[in-house]
Amino acid sequence: MDIALVGIGKIARDQHIPAIAQSPDWKLKACVSQSGTVEGVTTFTEFDTFLRDCPETRVVSLCMPPLPRFGYAAAAIAAGRHVMLEKPPGASLAECYKLAGMARSQRVTLFATWHSREAAMVDAAKEWLSGKDLRRVTVTWREDVRRWHPGQEWIWAPGGLGVFDPGINALSILTKIVPDGLHVTEAHLEVPENRQGPIAAQLRFAHPTGADVTAEFDWRQEGDQIWRIQVETAQGTLVLEDGGARMFIEGCPHKGDARALSGEYPRLYARMAQLVADGRSDADFEPLRHVADAFLLGRRTTVAPFHE
Ligand code: NAP
Repeated sequence: MDIALVGIGKIARDQHIPAIAQSPDWKLKACVSQSGTVEGVTTFTEFDTFLRDCPETRVVSLCMPPLPRFGYAAAAIAAGRHVMLEKPPGASLAECYKLAGMARSQRVTLFATWHSREAAMVDAAKEWLSGKDLRRVTVTWREDVRRWHPGQEWIWAPGGLGVFDPGINALSILTKIVPDGLHVTEAHLEVPENRQGPIAAQLRFAHPTGADVTAEFDWRQEGDQIWRIQVETAQGTLVLEDGGARMFIEGCPHKGDARALSGEYPRLYARMAQLVADGRSDADFEPLRHVADAFLLGRRTTVAPFHE
């Protein structure tokens, strides 16, 4: 199938273009970009022009930041295109639900992707945890914003999510491996005095059987980066490291079965191909709901200004 990529920035170049290039399902037919081109691919500067001039390209993948994404997604769905959304699926929950409704009415596929759910050990973790009695879940996501988001002003602006931009990746894994009705009960947001978005956040969740579930996100980490979810159960302890790439059960590395297709983005594109072929959507907004609740409930502390 032909596909168009819209918003040719860091993630489009790092992941989407290589994943499409190696996929047997997709051909990158067009790009829409204000600032650049992709070699050998027709590039449009205006999305409306692309929609009008390329009616045969039925699928678009939207890689711009969350705030401007809704307008693009709504226009694409209205024009009868299938849509793949980068995470987070929108800048607000209302936008997300509206897109899901539009996709249903237009009978097109909407895929709200969560790339971290495709990390190598996430399915194995979900399987191992199934039926076990949870006691404690501790999410620790500590990374250096200067290393991973250089020059990205949008990430600090309203709608940019601040530290929840990486934190929502942890929440996407958490809601997959612990699917039983968590909800945020307390949040603390640390906001630099010169920014709108938090640089750190701590969350506490209620769990139906009383497990102690907490998450800590921090962008001020130097040295080793930590993307860890530790789950203590009555039957043993599971630790996911490196954002779900590695898993340890009772401290022992778990090899697991090699997944048929390696890499988070190749798996996302394979799934999109399947969803379009089956005429289905996959739009789970649960991770964004937890972020929204953290903003609703969060106690704010002003912290030192952040300069790059
Ligand atoms: P980015 O490089 O700062 O921006 C991506 C591109 O979006 C820009 O190059 C631009 O494309 C377009 N864009 C920016 N502002 C726009 C606006 N106001 N209206 C329309 N288009 C606009 O961001 P990114 O790091 O790729 O992140 C994009 C999304 O991917 C975010 O939702 C992020 O959470 C997600 N993501 C990022 C990473 C990562 O490692 N960076 C990893 C996973 C997911 P053109 O110049 O081509 O128009």
